[in-house]
Amino acid sequence: MPIDVARARAETPGCTNVLHLNNAGAALPPQGVVEAQIQHLRREASTGGYEAAADAEAARHRTYEAIATLLHASAEEIALAPNATRAWDMAFYGLPLTAGDRILTHRATYASNGLAMLQRAEQTGATVEVVPSTPEGTIDVGALEQRMDNDVALIALTHMPTNGGLVNPAEAVGAVARAAGVPYLLDACQSAGQRPLDVAAIGCTMCAATGRKFLRGPRGTGFLYVRRDWIDRLTPPFIDLHAATWTGPSSYEWRPDAKRFETWERYVAGTIGLGVAVDYALDWGLEAIWDRIRDLGAALRARLQDVPSVVVRDAGREQSGIVTFSSDACEAASIQRALRAQDINVSVSTPSSTYLDAAARDLPDLVRASVHYYNTTDELDRFTHALSTILASV
Ligand SMILES: *Cc1c(COP(=O)(O)O)cnc(C)c1O
Repeated sequence: MPIDVARARAETPGCTNVLHLNNAGAALPPQGVVEAQIQHLRREASTGGYEAAADAEAARHRTYEAIATLLHASAEEIALAPNATRAWDMAFYGLPLTAGDRILTHRATYASNGLAMLQRAEQTGATVEVVPSTPEGTIDVGALEQRMDNDVALIALTHMPTNGGLVNPAEAVGAVARAAGVPYLLDACQSAGQRPLDVAAIGCTMCAATGRKFLRGPRGTGFLYVRRDWIDRLTPPFIDLHAATWTGPSSYEWRPDAKRFETWERYVAGTIGLGVAVDYALDWGLEAIWDRIRDLGAALRARLQDVPSVVVRDAGREQSGIVTFSSDACEAASIQRALRAQDINVSVSTPSSTYLDAAARDLPDLVRASVHYYNTTDELDRFTHALSTILASV
């Protein structure tokens, strides 16, 4: 079933105010997500925070179930986090590493993940290796396969990078990881809510994502999936009374499920809102969402071909709804500012956000215009016209 765009827009209050092409930054939330949070905040104010949380037990539990459904996992394999970075960290810093261990990654790696890899390499003597890319820019799965040996301790892949339309072949990488029995940590931050995600089919052992991007959830929310048989093999870098129980003067027991990667305190309204957002995405259907996003992404790239001085910078054969470009007539930040003055939202991807890829492709600051299913081709026309006018006037 194709997306009913008129209904999607009617259920998205922001659509009447802005032309929002910053969905890879933070998408506009649907009304239901906003209402669920406000309602819970009101309940906290009127009955007390702990009491409101107890009354909302079912909704809080639903969030785990909804995320499990989204990922084709089970609720005991899901941990909530304040963002994707900390979710990813809880798995990454929980993995035992010793000198000589090899971490294999790809140049699309998000900066925060890459920084964590550098830090742990410094601390443990492990090495970080960047697997070569195909001419299209995706991870070269054959080259990955050739690098596998007993010292490989982790494959860490960014599914869709923050700085462009590339889609990495997550399933093919999963097949290599599975064959070698190596843990595989997938950064699905930009793919969650944008396309179907099946952790079993992908073959990843861990997967992290955020709430506010293509899932259209609240800011300050994220989650981690850890496959059942890996929960015990990771040692969370932090512990609290929710993750473990203090059982004796010098003993404690970890929780058996993925909640051992969480902390007790959290933004409960956000947790509830995230569940509503995931259910909302599931209601539309991830296939339908992905079909429309890809169509709009391609339509936007086609329009940009006709704008003088603009160069589209997206790599990849299969491409997502994240469209990036630069113009030698005007800096990305100035373009963003001029668009913002017309209530058109885009963001700027700086080279440091994806250092390895930016260095390999010698990228400047890029304008990132990321589409969601509630965007329309009329909006793309308006955007292209506004951009052309801005660039013609510099
Ligand atoms: C945004 C992003 C992250 C970080 O997500 P946070 O929720 O901000 O921590 C990680 N990886 C990719 C590819 C991203 O685009």
